[in-house]
Amino acid sequence: MSDIDRPALTKAALMYVHYCEEAGCKEWGGWGNAPSPAAATRWWCFEHFPHKSYEQEQALRRKLEAAEHRA
Ligand SMILES: [Zn+2]
Repeated sequence: MSDIDRPALTKAALMYVHYCEEAGCKEWGGWGNAPSPAAATRWWCFEHFPHKSYEQEQALRRKLEAAEHRA
């Protein structure tokens, strides 16, 4: 038995590697959204995630403002 005998495991791991799809963004895409169960899920970081709720948007703004004040 060798590592070459296990291609399925390698492919499964690759499915979980998804970064934010915003051009130029290198953040991890931890926020996914699929328009329908049949469609492929798209991934963004929290900042670029286009489907945030109003509360999530406010929380992000407070976080960004706090970061600006520290700089
Ligand atoms: Zn991003």
